[in-house]
Amino acid sequence: MRSGIAQFISGQLLTRYLVLVTLLKKYSIKAPAKLNIGLKITGQRPDGYHELISIMVPISLFDYLDFRLTSNNIKIICNGDYLVPADERNLAYRAAQDFFILAGINSQGLTIHLTKKIPVEAGLGGGSSDAAATLLALNNMFDHPLAFNELHNAAVRLGADVAFFLERSPCIAKGIGDILEPIRNWPRYWYVIITPKLNISTSWVYQSLNLKLTICKFGFIIDQLKRGKIDLNALMVNDLEPMVVSHFPLIGALKKALLKAGAIGALMSGSGSSVFGIFTSHEQAYEAKDALLSQQFGVVFVVECVHHS
Ligand code: ATP
Repeated sequence: MRSGIAQFISGQLLTRYLVLVTLLKKYSIKAPAKLNIGLKITGQRPDGYHELISIMVPISLFDYLDFRLTSNNIKIICNGDYLVPADERNLAYRAAQDFFILAGINSQGLTIHLTKKIPVEAGLGGGSSDAAATLLALNNMFDHPLAFNELHNAAVRLGADVAFFLERSPCIAKGIGDILEPIRNWPRYWYVIITPKLNISTSWVYQSLNLKLTICKFGFIIDQLKRGKIDLNALMVNDLEPMVVSHFPLIGALKKALLKAGAIGALMSGSGSSVFGIFTSHEQAYEAKDALLSQQFGVVFVVECVHHS
């Protein structure tokens, strides 16, 4: 009997030991940017948040995050093409803090090397994606202490777009962006993105809106999308765009330039400043990129939709 208990205890200890030694001390993850293929504002909640319906697509433009467990505090080292704060103001930092609290992991040190390739305040969701990537990476490193719904709730608390980036798939986003329905049959397109040298603050855009709320038409379009019928012309509407164009006419000029370069549709992503055009062939997209680069509007990317990675 005693040897049975001893065996059981040593078995438990061995399992615990194996879990500890298999904890990943280093981990790397790519955080994709997103495009809003359509964005309709459908209401405003008493707390000020806007409710919306949006088609969101993760794309092949990435920030790179490398995690290393340490014995000190949480630290972010930031490099790459764009500068962001490397302290509590960084969403990846806040995501790590929240993860440790929720997972009951005390006094764990962590260094995050963040290589920023996604333009900042450009409507491409870089900060939100970095936060989601941090939640996913830490949950993997610590052998999944949080269930997906706990990660989802943590993501929603961090910011409206963070939950979308946990899905790693094109989605219909509703609510404040927290109710997500993956789109399984999103067609293959190439997207040419122009990011001009304008920083447009998301909160400024929402505060400046004077909206007529339109729900019905877009709801109908979403129903069609679910049945596999994709009408890009109907989808490519962004309720934030007219106000931004009225303050920044360059955004309107970028749309025209993309259409002239052969895009089948062009739209501002999120609250701007990036504008994208949709192309049905790789060759056309790269020809358009060359033509647009010569016009010196800003940075130009050719990307595709990315699914689970
Ligand atoms: P959104 O539309 O979700 O606001 P965006 O693409 O327009 O996204 P971000 O690039 O995510 O904007 O940056 C928005 C703000 O978030 C900036 O003021 C930036 O300083 C801050 N921020 C905090 N953490 C990060 C991060 N890891 N990467 C980029 N920005 C971050």
